Amino acid sequence: MKICYNEKLKKLPPYLFIEIDKKKKEAIERGADIISLGVGDPDLSTPGHIVESMQRSVANSVNHQYPFGAGMLSFREAVVQWYKKRFNVGLNTDEVCALIGSKEGIGHIHLGFIDPGDVVLIPEPGYPVYNTGTIFTNGVPYFMPLVEKNSFLPDLNIIPVDILKKAKLLFVNYPNNPTAAVATKEFYIQLIEFSKKNNIIIVSDAAYSEIYYDENEKPLSFLEFPGAKEVGVEFNSLSKTYNMTGWRIGWVCGNRDIISGIVKVKDNYDSGVFQAVQEAAITALTSSQQCVEDMRKIYKERRNVLVEGLKKLGWKVNLPKASFYVWARIPNGYTSSQVVSKLLDEASIVCTPGNGMGKSGEGYVRFALTVNVLRIKEALRRMGEIKW
Ligand SMILES: *Cc1c(COP(=O)(O)O)cnc(C)c1O
Repeated sequence: MKICYNEKLKKLPPYLFIEIDKKKKEAIERGADIISLGVGDPDLSTPGHIVESMQRSVANSVNHQYPFGAGMLSFREAVVQWYKKRFNVGLNTDEVCALIGSKEGIGHIHLGFIDPGDVVLIPEPGYPVYNTGTIFTNGVPYFMPLVEKNSFLPDLNIIPVDILKKAKLLFVNYPNNPTAAVATKEFYIQLIEFSKKNNIIIVSDAAYSEIYYDENEKPLSFLEFPGAKEVGVEFNSLSKTYNMTGWRIGWVCGNRDIISGIVKVKDNYDSGVFQAVQEAAITALTSSQQCVEDMRKIYKERRNVLVEGLKKLGWKVNLPKASFYVWARIPNGYTSSQVVSKLLDEASIVCTPGNGMGKSGEGYVRFALTVNVLRIKEALRRMGEIKW
């Protein structure tokens, strides 16, 4: 039998990081000593007290049955507490839903809100999953360019009226992957006004809210601003904050009716998050946050070494205020893909081509701060030997 994929699957672009991983493996097979600044997957391990909490919970047979769709009440309470403490945002437990990693919810939210032909407003360059969910629901993506002269914030005023009429969801992601930009208070206020006027649900992806470098400039939550809960939801995740990408746990919170829609999708698609993982997440969210503080220090040192080093080599880079990415303008006369290939072939360095995450990313590459300082210094040394 000839196996035929449907049009949606055929329409999906190859998942960028899987492609990069393939190239990396090929180089390793050639014997190259690869320094991987490509995929945004923390190299640090999950803090011990979270692992120990999981070990205890795994042994408890209560956790061996199907979890409840929206997540355990105790997990949702922990999120409510965390939001109050971190953002001074008040939530009820029915305004929170646990997710099998926030990617799961980001990819599935479309199922509850998009009919064929509905438009989804998506930032580009950006996290590929906003578009994946759009394709799977036969929605129509409309890409909002994030450009440096607009501080990598989407220009809401240039979206055509006929697009706005058909738009149902609008994604924003700050601190931003890949540009490392943060959103301002003014932007969120404008966004909420825009959403009300045009009847478009706001979907904020705040996965990097805790990866910041200045205590006095902590990233904001979209939900901090008046009216936000009437128009949208915010995703967050334990993946980046507690080095738990492999555990698959995150959440979405905000508007009760939107959350209900997501819970309904999940009740029909999966059966929730393994309760032992939820209990470990409760430990992470409610115990001392010293581990997060320590992690920020490590990223900060890496950030400073990489940005200073790149500048010395003549690269144009801004010092990121948040996220663990450095979004660097590439040397003149090259495309992003050419630079990525050159770095891999001549210095065994893996990084992400800006245009791989959207066409406005052309002219940039993204470095992830997911290797130690010694390796970053070695990467810089090798880059210094490249002739451009
Ligand atoms: C890493 C990341 C996430 C989080 O993914 P999980 O599924 O929670 O691991 C969400 N959004 C963006 C933009 C990310 O980079």
